[in-house]
Amino acid sequence: MFDRLTLSLDLAGCPNRCRHCWLGWGPNGGLSREDLAWAAEAFRPYARELAVYDWYREPDYAQDYRERWELCESLSTPGSGREHFELASLWRLARDENYAPWLKGLGVNAVQVTLFGGEAATDRFTGRRGAYGDILKAIEAMLAQGIAPRVQVFVNQRNVDELGAVEALMEELRLEERCRAIGQEFACFVHQGSCDGKNADFYPDWVTPEDLEKIPPRLAAGTLRHFGAKSLREVFGQTEAELVRELREDRSTRRLSQREPVLFVDPNWDVYPNFTTPGPAWRLGNLKRDGAARVLEAYRRDEAPGQRARMTVPVCQLVQAHGDLESRRLFDQGDYIDYLLNRYLEGET
Ligand code: SF4
Repeated sequence: MFDRLTLSLDLAGCPNRCRHCWLGWGPNGGLSREDLAWAAEAFRPYARELAVYDWYREPDYAQDYRERWELCESLSTPGSGREHFELASLWRLARDENYAPWLKGLGVNAVQVTLFGGEAATDRFTGRRGAYGDILKAIEAMLAQGIAPRVQVFVNQRNVDELGAVEALMEELRLEERCRAIGQEFACFVHQGSCDGKNADFYPDWVTPEDLEKIPPRLAAGTLRHFGAKSLREVFGQTEAELVRELREDRSTRRLSQREPVLFVDPNWDVYPNFTTPGPAWRLGNLKRDGAARVLEAYRRDEAPGQRARMTVPVCQLVQAHGDLESRRLFDQGDYIDYLLNRYLEGET
C-alpha cells in the first residue's frame, strides 16, 4: 500500500510538438472519461490517497475540460493535494472565451507561457504555425481575468540570439505594469531544460558559460529573481567537464522508487514513473494487460530498465561511458546524471 499515488492519464494529448518536449510526441486522444474512471478504480486499492489528472501533456486541451476536471475531483481522495497548477492550455485560452474565467474561478492567478524568441522562432520551436499568435491572445485573455502570464524561455545555441525579441515583447505588452495593476508580480525566466526526451536532440547546441552572456538584462534579472540565485551560473549549473571530474570517482547508485509515486499512463495504457522522459526504457508495464498490482510491483521493485540501471550502475560507470571531459555544456548535476543514464539506456534497450 502506497501512502499517496498521483495518476496522470494522457487523455487528449497536446496541440504542439515542441522541439524541447521531454514527454514525447505521441498521438493525441484515444482515452475517454470512462477510461479515466476505470484507471482510477484499478489503482485505488493500492494507495491511501489517490490524486487523479486527465493530462500530462497539455492541460484542458479537450473540449469537455470542465467535465474532466470535475471527474478528476470526484475520483481523487479529498485532501490529496490535487490542484490545477499554474499551467493551462494556451491553445484554448486563445479560442475559448469561457476558459480564462473558469481558470480564475479555480483560484489560478498565474499561468506559464513558453517563448523561444520572436514569432518565427516560437512557431518553429513549438512545432506549430500560429503558436506565437495564440500566446499573444492567451496573454490578453489571462490579464482580462486578473491572471498573470509568467514567461518561460528555453534557451540553446540555436535561439540564444533571439531572446531580445522576448524582452521587446514584454516591454511592448507592458507586462510588468499590467501584472502590477492586477495585484500580481510579473515573473520571467530563462533555463535550458533537462536534457531528455526531445530536448536531448539539442545536446550539440547546449548552452555554455559564454552563451549566458548573451541573455539580455531583463530576462537575466528575472531569472535570478525566479530561482532566488545570485548568478546565472548558479541557475544553469556546472560545465560538463566540471561534472565529469566531480563524478568520475562516484560509485553511488540510487533507488528511484518512493512511497508516493507519480505515474503517467499513455493512450496505449503503458505506464511510466515520473522520473525523466516516459520512453521505452522507463516503461513499467501495461495497465490493461498486466494490471495495476503488477505495474506497482514493478515500480516498487525498481524493475523498469531505467530504474534498474540507476539502482545497479554506479555513476562513475555512466560518466565513463558517456561523459565528455572537453565539454563546456551547462547542467544541473541531477539532470546531468539523468542525461547520462538515458544515453546509457539507449545502448542497453
Ligand atoms: S512541451 Fe508541453 S506543450 Fe510542448 S509538445 Fe510537450 S507537452 Fe506539448
